Amino acid sequence: MKKQDKVYDVIVVGGGPAGMMAAIQAAKLERSVLLIEKNNSLGKKLLITGSGRCNVTNTAHLNDFTKRFGKHGAFLRSAFSSFSNMDLMDFFKSKGLDLKIEDSGRVFPVTDDSKSILNVLKEFLKENNVKIMYNASLAGVKKTSGGFRLNLNLKNDEVSMNTKKVVLATGGASYRATGSAGDGFVIAEKLGHKITPLKPGSVPLKVKEAWVEDLQGISLENVGLTFKSGKKRISNKGDVIFTQFGVSGPKILDLSARVISFLEKEDEIPLLLDLKPDLGREELGVKLVEAFKIHGKTDLKNFMKFLMPNRMIPIFLKLSNVDSKKKLNQINKKERNSILNLLKAFPLKVTGCLPLEKAMVTCGGVSKKEINPQTMESKLVPGLYFAGEIIDGCAPSGGYNLQQAFSTGYLAGRSAAC
Ligand SMILES: Cc1cc2nc3c(=O)[nH]c(=O)nc-3n(C[C@H](O)[C@H](O)[C@H](O)COP(=O)(O)OP(=O)(O)OC[C@H]3O[C@@H](n4cnc5c(N)ncnc54)[C@H](O)[C@@H]3O)c2cc1C
Repeated sequence: MKKQDKVYDVIVVGGGPAGMMAAIQAAKLERSVLLIEKNNSLGKKLLITGSGRCNVTNTAHLNDFTKRFGKHGAFLRSAFSSFSNMDLMDFFKSKGLDLKIEDSGRVFPVTDDSKSILNVLKEFLKENNVKIMYNASLAGVKKTSGGFRLNLNLKNDEVSMNTKKVVLATGGASYRATGSAGDGFVIAEKLGHKITPLKPGSVPLKVKEAWVEDLQGISLENVGLTFKSGKKRISNKGDVIFTQFGVSGPKILDLSARVISFLEKEDEIPLLLDLKPDLGREELGVKLVEAFKIHGKTDLKNFMKFLMPNRMIPIFLKLSNVDSKKKLNQINKKERNSILNLLKAFPLKVTGCLPLEKAMVTCGGVSKKEINPQTMESKLVPGLYFAGEIIDGCAPSGGYNLQQAFSTGYLAGRSAAC
């Protein structure tokens, strides 16, 4: 193994949003900084965020930010206060990149292109003389008297480098092809840190019903969703997309972490879809009676086209036990009620979720109990800092996770430079 004599002030491992921000901040305080990235380019995951448009943050108030991270929110308060959503927006605007606000406070670059976010970060890295080493994968970290020795695997070589401080910003363990393959968890564990169980956050759900495959690709707009677990319920409204194995869509992804926690206690969780959430049961019942009278000679299956996507009708009518060939004036009260019941509570049974690899974020990671929230420094290993998704905790979509990466990166970089 080759040894490099130079001792850096700070080595940041991981060229994602958290690592880039940490490196920029440490370098701004005039420290010699090396950023190590295992890929041949920076921000591979950042580029695919927000379907390539990058939902970079949210306009929500600090209290809402912490709420989104649930029990992990309090830990992040200092980071979000030190470098807020407004600070992040100013950071990008200072390089001439304008941002726009969309529904629910989601912030995107006006270019609708995540490359423009990455370009600003690269500009800051260059301006502050951050040295970048590509195709270098951190394999191990050893504590030394003056700091740390990092062992790196290069394409055809191995090298060890010395640094006074180290920031681990290697991300989570999902979408591994982007580089975040969970390496940081193994390294942190070897340094004595506890890694809380890694669970998928924002992930499509699987259902028991095999017929769901026939509905694959169908999107139901703004339907009601109710998950039930004992006395607990999660109710919400949003778009649902049927997939080969179950259901997806922004609202499903957002609620998935809570549903997964229900599944830790039960094998299957009922999910009821309200296909007409804007009408109460009684109101909808009255409307059906009227419509069945007016369109008495219409075939039931033709009438159903007004209520749901075509491909869903055969499955819906099979579940309702009503003969699809009947005309509306041949349908009795019991049959009409069966249709009404299904419209208000179309039942599915959630049995699981897609694997961590398919999740937008990893929930779980380096235990926050072992990290100083004011500095992001390890409480166990002085001089070691953490930033981004490697830290336990995750939020639903909306720009919160990227803000977490930038805010913790900011704090870790500045603290490591002190
Ligand atoms: C499809 C998708 C869409 C998303 N959309 C959004 C969105 O719109 N808004 C939002 O807020 N969040 C979004 N997220 C989540 C967001 O991308 C992450 O929360 C964020 O990227 C985490 O940043 P990070 O810097 O901690 O980790 P990462 O972005 O994962 O970066 C970690 C870096 O470390 C490098 N690395 C790993 N191991 C090593 C090693 N051993 N040696 C050297 N380098 C290493 C990796 O190659 C990688 O470049 C999305 C995620 C996905 C998968």
